[in-house]
Amino acid sequence: MPVTRRKFIRIGAASAGGMVLGGGLVSDWYGLDAPRLTDPATDGDRIVPTFCEICFWKCGVLAHVKQGRVTKLTGHPDHPLSRGRLCPRGAGGTGLLYDPDRLKKPLVRTGRRGEETFREASWEEALDRIAGEMDRLRRDYGPQSMALFQHGYGSSWFTHLFRAYGSPNIAAPSYAQCRGPREVGFQLTFGDGVLSPERVDMERADCIVLIGSHLGENMHNTQVRDFARAVGRGATVIVVDPRFSVAAGKADHWLPIKPGTDIALLLSWMNVLIEEGLYDRSTVENFTTGFDQLRAHVAGKTPEWAYARTGIRPELIRATARKIGAAKPAAVIHPGRRVTWYGDDTQRTRAIAILTALTGSWGRAGGYLLPTAMKVPKYPYAPYPAPDAPAADRAKPSDFPMADATLASGLCAATIPGSSAYGAKGWMVYGTNLPLTLPEPERVEAALQEAEFIVAIDVLPAEICGWADVVLPEATYLERADDIDAPAYREPYAALRQEVVSPLHDSKPGWWIAKEIANRLDLASFFPWKDVDEYVDARLSAAGIDRREIREKGVVLGPRTPCTYEEGIAPEFGTESGKIELYSAALAAAGFDPIPEFRPPEEPPAGYFRLLIGRSPVHTFGRTTNNRLLSEVCDENEVWVAASAARELGIASGERVVLVNQDGVEEGPVKVKATERIRTDCVFLTHGFGHRAKALSFARGRGADDARLMTRVSVDPIMGGTGMNVNFVTLKRV
Ligand code: SF4
Repeated sequence: MPVTRRKFIRIGAASAGGMVLGGGLVSDWYGLDAPRLTDPATDGDRIVPTFCEICFWKCGVLAHVKQGRVTKLTGHPDHPLSRGRLCPRGAGGTGLLYDPDRLKKPLVRTGRRGEETFREASWEEALDRIAGEMDRLRRDYGPQSMALFQHGYGSSWFTHLFRAYGSPNIAAPSYAQCRGPREVGFQLTFGDGVLSPERVDMERADCIVLIGSHLGENMHNTQVRDFARAVGRGATVIVVDPRFSVAAGKADHWLPIKPGTDIALLLSWMNVLIEEGLYDRSTVENFTTGFDQLRAHVAGKTPEWAYARTGIRPELIRATARKIGAAKPAAVIHPGRRVTWYGDDTQRTRAIAILTALTGSWGRAGGYLLPTAMKVPKYPYAPYPAPDAPAADRAKPSDFPMADATLASGLCAATIPGSSAYGAKGWMVYGTNLPLTLPEPERVEAALQEAEFIVAIDVLPAEICGWADVVLPEATYLERADDIDAPAYREPYAALRQEVVSPLHDSKPGWWIAKEIANRLDLASFFPWKDVDEYVDARLSAAGIDRREIREKGVVLGPRTPCTYEEGIAPEFGTESGKIELYSAALAAAGFDPIPEFRPPEEPPAGYFRLLIGRSPVHTFGRTTNNRLLSEVCDENEVWVAASAARELGIASGERVVLVNQDGVEEGPVKVKATERIRTDCVFLTHGFGHRAKALSFARGRGADDARLMTRVSVDPIMGGTGMNVNFVTLKRV
């Protein structure tokens, strides 16, 4: 059933006004027909299978092309992550492809850093300049002086380039500014991380707990649909959130928790499970260590104890704990995604992991799965040179002892003289808009001024480009091929990103850019293939995948493999003890709490609200806020304020205010949404708006940029994540 451009689709919290989730963008989506590979409704003359890059989920896409133009994008029916459907953002991907603001030519800076003044350059000139600077830095300071900040699937070519070049300074902000704490928390407990896509089996869960996780606003396609199916089946849904989110609108229980007190709630849930004997005895007895210490630790942490800290009534804590216990092992306590909030985030995630262990949900249907990936051997490159120095992201090697990836915020700091053992002197920034991504804007700006050389590789002229010496226009995901995607998932598969249409303007694919830079740096031996097709073919042939078949279909499925203990997987844990560690000896040895402790968060000063941030369902943060199609649905953010608080301030819904943080930094104006759907002690903004880049002609000046208000952070001492929910704001009438 085709949908007219003006037809909107609504799902979500109908009782709370609903969330508009699609804007004339989709030919098939929730509740509508699933497409067929040969789609009679196509208005194209060919269909090219590929996978999406509007967010990192990487759903399979069928791109419909007519006379060289992509006319629509639909969900690939055979791809396990799309199953025939896309989320609104994926369906609106042509808004990126045909964005009139796209970077069109390589640019070379002509004015001062940050002034955004450039002249156009040829690829030859731009690449020679980049290679020349990288060569100079390598000679003057060693290859470790170059840092790569990267995000997105195309970054693999640049990671490879940097390893070949010899720099250990390769960081994705998605670690220290987003999901790092949950990986470390689960690693410490189970010896294994959460993965992406997350290994949760919501489809078969009897109880789903979302604790600060905004499914429905966080539109990870398959996961939202698994959640919707579970709701349809009657699974119990418990949502813990200071805000009545879309998911809360579907919940049996909404726990409007006081921000920063999740650990207290989690400990009291453990208390009830243990005191009432609702935990999974077999898991605890056979596979865990430290149960006695845990029992003693939570003994006094009753629901009454937690009530005083969280504001959640004891009977509600008890009732929800019993529902979790009754559903075990088919209970998912979702790990969330962006979990860098208060600086105790690894411990908070560890509390989620321990609760998961108590419910026996690890490795069980309806809990956390143990998926495997299709085996696709790596390209047989020669070994990389060993870096001469460790990464520069920590002032001392003993800082953040459990971090298992480089910290983007640390590399940024290392660019400011005196912050690190040695300085990062040059930056390559691929697909990540650091000024809107990293907190502490003054430090980010200082680092951007200090760097001797910056190159930005992007599709749009985002803020980071304004600080670069050279800007390279990359082809979008619909104009380029990339590496093969074969993640661990319950249905193993391998998917291809293919060029749907030729690159527009003078843009080039990432693989070509990386290879050209490598050639100029005498690293051609690390890029021995002629082009991406030859590279991909080599991997496909090593994997025994028919290259013609995968090019035709875009995806091939591997044999279904067991994902649970019930299916025969032997329980094994990669922890030091070889067991699930309820008590972590590793944390104790490093001087941290071996079992999570609750410490109250700092209270907002009088007249201030805690600033919370999240997502819009039609945007992937700042990556899509210039997308005119998606902006038909949402073209600016609003600051959510409790209706009673707004009344007290004399501020009406729809009025514009400036947000002023605890350090006097102002941001806005931004529209107020006065609502009953949020606690009175916090306000909420969706991230990715408030652009200032001159060349983002659509997004510029729309809404407020929360990153400018993140002038302080609480750094997680275990892994270096930057907790950002420690900022407070007042509302100033315009
Ligand atoms: S969840 Fe949406 S934006 Fe993300 S990859 Fe899938 S379709 Fe694209």
